[in-house]
Amino acid sequence: MDSSQPINLKALTHQELRDYCSEQGIPSYRGDQLFQWMWQKEIHDVHDMLNLPKSLRESLAHTTTITQLERRKETRSKDGTIKLLFETGRDQSPPVEAVLIPDFDQDGSPQRMTVCVSSQVGCMFGCAFCATGKMGYFRNLEAWEIADQAVQMNRVAIDSYGKGITNIVYMGMGEPLHNMKAVTDSVGMITSPLGLELSPKRITVSTVGLSKQIKQLAEQKAPFNLAISLHAPNDGKRDQIMPINESLDLSALREALELYYQSLQKPVTYEYLLFDEFNDSIEDARELSEIVSWIPSKVNIIMYNNVLGVELKRAREHRLDTFMQALSKHGVRATVRRSRGDDIDAGCGQLAIREGISKGKSIAKA
Ligand code: SF4
Repeated sequence: MDSSQPINLKALTHQELRDYCSEQGIPSYRGDQLFQWMWQKEIHDVHDMLNLPKSLRESLAHTTTITQLERRKETRSKDGTIKLLFETGRDQSPPVEAVLIPDFDQDGSPQRMTVCVSSQVGCMFGCAFCATGKMGYFRNLEAWEIADQAVQMNRVAIDSYGKGITNIVYMGMGEPLHNMKAVTDSVGMITSPLGLELSPKRITVSTVGLSKQIKQLAEQKAPFNLAISLHAPNDGKRDQIMPINESLDLSALREALELYYQSLQKPVTYEYLLFDEFNDSIEDARELSEIVSWIPSKVNIIMYNNVLGVELKRAREHRLDTFMQALSKHGVRATVRRSRGDDIDAGCGQLAIREGISKGKSIAKA
């Protein structure tokens, strides 16, 4: 750490804040108070932290800073979905995005309020269907930059719908398990009783199938849910649309998931984008049912938001119906998820890509 630079208190985990206070000769419980001011009360000026002694506030004002993600743009869909683009500051990197997806009951009262957060600026995994994959990888987000998306969206949800966020999915820009430490630290910030106090059971982290990291989650007894971005029912098709599958194929994924289930006894969710005449046949459904039988799991069949310049297209309704019938015949529990916010490019990376960006690193072949 550069000692001439003020320390960003927001970048410290709860434990690191306590340690920082101890190192400065300040009682460690002041770290709890600082954490609560920043992450629960959303106060970003130490002068306003009224339960801290005045002398401490003054010295912290000289030696520390408290940052916040800066909003570049907010867009609202007619279906209630709200999308925020945040500046990422350095190296002229593109903005990242977070999306609020509210569900309403029949009377129009808000029910589940899900926020989808980003974990990296861009992504290097180059999945053929993904707008973020097209921009390449720029950098990892820090833990506070991930948690701050949730906090800011919580404020937007309360102001817009009178209800805070209830669920978080790590399914925005980036591959969360390629930024493991920041992702797990951000979950700690979000779930802290001195923060948003969201249960880890309401948090889902998704991955393209990084087997080593899935095994680490098993070892660490990660308290959040795991989703696998599967999108194809066999290695041949997965190789075509997800370059990672060439080095980490379905057998590597199976081995990691079996270990995960052995350790945590928790089912996983498979995310399966349904593409027209690519992965939506009766035979595809049969192969998918074999994968689903590896460990207890459920399946989300997602109707794709078509992306400019991508050949794969959303499956037609009659093919969806046949596919669902075939899955049901094989005893697979599956739910169809309709895309939301089509009118505001709410699919992963789509709004950011329209904002104009240069190209980052990618494992995809040109
Ligand atoms: S789908 Fe996920 S892993 Fe694949 S390119 Fe997009 S952000 Fe990266």
